[in-house]
Amino acid sequence: MIDLTVATLKSDILRHLTYTLGKDAPNASLYDWRMALSFTMRDRIVEPWFASTRRTWAEDHKRVYYLSMEYLIGRLLEDATINLGLRDLAETAMNDLGQDFRALVEDEPDAALGNGGLGRLAACFMESMATLGCPAYGYGIRYEHGLFRQRFEGGQQVETPEDWLNQPHAWEFPRPEAAYTIGFKGTVESRDGRDMWLPGETVLASAHDTPVVGWQGKWANTLRLWGAMPTTQFDLERFNRGDYAAAAEPEALARTLSRVLYPDDTTYQGKELRLKQEFFLTSAALQDILRRYKAGHSDLRALPEHVAIQMNDTHPSIAGPELIRLLSDVHGMPFEDALDTARACLGYTNHTLLPEALERWATYTFGNVLPRHMQIIERIDSWHRRTNPNTPHYVGIVKHHEVRMGELAFIMSHKVNGVSALHSDLVKQNLFPELHLLHPDRIINETNGVTPRRWLKMCNRPLAGLISQTIGDGWEDDLDRLKGLEPHVTDAGFLSAFGVAKRQNKVALAHWIERDCGVTVDPDALFDVQVKRIHEYKRQLLNILETISRWDAIRKNPTGNWVPRVKIFGGKSAPGYAVAKEIIHLINDVASVVNADPLTGDLLKIVYPANYNVSMAERLVPAADLSEQISTAGKEASGTGNMKFMMNGAPTIGTLDGANVEILQEVGAENFFLFGLTAAEVVVRRQDAEHSRKAIEASQKLQDVMQMLAEGRFSPDQRDRYHGLVHRMWHSDYFLVASDFDAYVAAQAEADAAYANRNHWLKMAALNTARSGFFSSDRTIRGYMRDIWSVESALQP
Ligand SMILES: *Cc1c(COP(=O)(O)O)cnc(C)c1O
Repeated sequence: MIDLTVATLKSDILRHLTYTLGKDAPNASLYDWRMALSFTMRDRIVEPWFASTRRTWAEDHKRVYYLSMEYLIGRLLEDATINLGLRDLAETAMNDLGQDFRALVEDEPDAALGNGGLGRLAACFMESMATLGCPAYGYGIRYEHGLFRQRFEGGQQVETPEDWLNQPHAWEFPRPEAAYTIGFKGTVESRDGRDMWLPGETVLASAHDTPVVGWQGKWANTLRLWGAMPTTQFDLERFNRGDYAAAAEPEALARTLSRVLYPDDTTYQGKELRLKQEFFLTSAALQDILRRYKAGHSDLRALPEHVAIQMNDTHPSIAGPELIRLLSDVHGMPFEDALDTARACLGYTNHTLLPEALERWATYTFGNVLPRHMQIIERIDSWHRRTNPNTPHYVGIVKHHEVRMGELAFIMSHKVNGVSALHSDLVKQNLFPELHLLHPDRIINETNGVTPRRWLKMCNRPLAGLISQTIGDGWEDDLDRLKGLEPHVTDAGFLSAFGVAKRQNKVALAHWIERDCGVTVDPDALFDVQVKRIHEYKRQLLNILETISRWDAIRKNPTGNWVPRVKIFGGKSAPGYAVAKEIIHLINDVASVVNADPLTGDLLKIVYPANYNVSMAERLVPAADLSEQISTAGKEASGTGNMKFMMNGAPTIGTLDGANVEILQEVGAENFFLFGLTAAEVVVRRQDAEHSRKAIEASQKLQDVMQMLAEGRFSPDQRDRYHGLVHRMWHSDYFLVASDFDAYVAAQAEADAAYANRNHWLKMAALNTARSGFFSSDRTIRGYMRDIWSVESALQP
């Protein structure tokens, strides 16, 4: 642990304030202080960072390269101070300097270079790899504009650009010397018997490095994000002629590549710019990997002994053909050797079964943007077909004039993994059944996890304190130790302390809700939280329909023995996803009516704070009593939100989907509110074309809700606003909201009854925390290291 006094820390902070920021303390703004503290912390990370790099070189250690189009990082200041063991010291130092630590932490922009779970997983993995001493680089794109900001106007989502880079980013080091040329389009020519790609367009990928420090500062890795720059010089002649716009054109065009994150995580659009972004990230990463490899080795055939490359979903799956191209076209390796070498390096993580999310590119677009890669893909395809003769239903990469990125990633990887046990089974059975038959050992499972440093230690100080008091320190990087809490759940003193910690978080959240949403909520009510991207399969609709039904039931019997509830929603819809946007509108409409109803009062409140992001999750998760994980079974690959809630002592109300299955297994059925159709039952139910009409007709409660919506009870300004929604509920309802409605209402009633018995509830909540050890991303990363990457920790003696 770093030996540092408050006095040294203060003098370091003042030195940065003065000499790095050029500010005199009396004139310094919150921004100046925050940057000064951040630089002071960053200085402490540089030491272990250099030491890690030196050690990796000295031991010629195998390196892991994680390729991801998204990193949902969030803020880094408090996370860094905690991993350095300087959290309390930093707070004291800032207090001494007359600054509020919390305000400084919250001044940092929330880096949202991702859409949701997939990007947050990449961020948790980076932290766990550093904690475990796994030598690794994360590669991504340095988007100027991350995920859009969300506002509500008249209850509807409005998107505004996100501008996290308006201020200098405190944690990164620009590396102008590390730049690679990335080509697009052009032609392929044969020279001296080798095929050579002559790109028609080029841009430069320029590196920006952020050190990622692990728990206790023992190891640090690099997150290397690429920014796009023009390869052509600024056109001074045009500028001097007064043609300013034309002179700036090449720069504008190049920068478009790293300008914006695509804001949709569940549907795929065949946009050329997106394909270019994917190739830009992948090619820059692979060139960087080969440059580093060649600095220490000469035999490219030995690459897989030293390099493991992980593709986070199919977005970087052009890595297969690009690595073959670099090895064969550029370095002269025979094609099949290049293919074997590439495949031995590559692994592919599948994140979705949703057909609309599977990447497929029209061969026309693909061949135009990446003509050489199109040829290589066709060669991979015919090689694979040739090496697997006698397969009656052969599934290739190119089919119906489309390049199918899932099949490409599968064939070019030595391991393919799903992200929860159920999901991995479905990947085998439904997504790649033919390829699985040909390669029965290739698909494996690595259930997702989240880092307990950020998602427990940092975001929930009251509970983290209680845990350390009860079982001692050391659980932070050995989360199975939380099991040690189990004997205490029968101890009244412990349970009451657990309740105090939870209440403290709920009171803090209630204050924030009052400020942010203008709604007063009772901290003793049951806080029922559903936060995640808005999507039909995640079924926020089911939740809001149950809320309407609950409101109706309370109104019919206002003096009944109700358990007061606060329904908390959060999440963004993809800008072009009309049905998801309608659900947002509905939630806000229902909130307006219900929150103004004096008859129901504190018995039911609905809040939907705008702009859900990592920082908001850090507020909401520790204050939740009930975790909503209610996707249509078979649709949620894993979920990671579910794990954060469990760790923080919120039992789940949920379906048998994704990692919920494993949560249920770990925590026990008596501590989980299970309901709904299973994945297999969903398939059967859909075969009945009348399933939704039958389900509504069988449920008086759901009929009443449909009636209220149809009458315009929640849209008095536009009575027919939800006619389309009601019609679709009766006649299509692909996600089986109607079929699961009554079971969900019953499970909610069980939750009410359980909450009414305070000691019973606290015990359930505490057991959720105690049994959450499995969901640490350290366990996940250990699995990847062992089963996919064949890499050892560099921290081991
Ligand atoms: C954890 C997290 C997610 C993923 O949530 P799911 O419930 O698993 O979909 C999405 N967004 C943010 C900001 C998160 O922190």
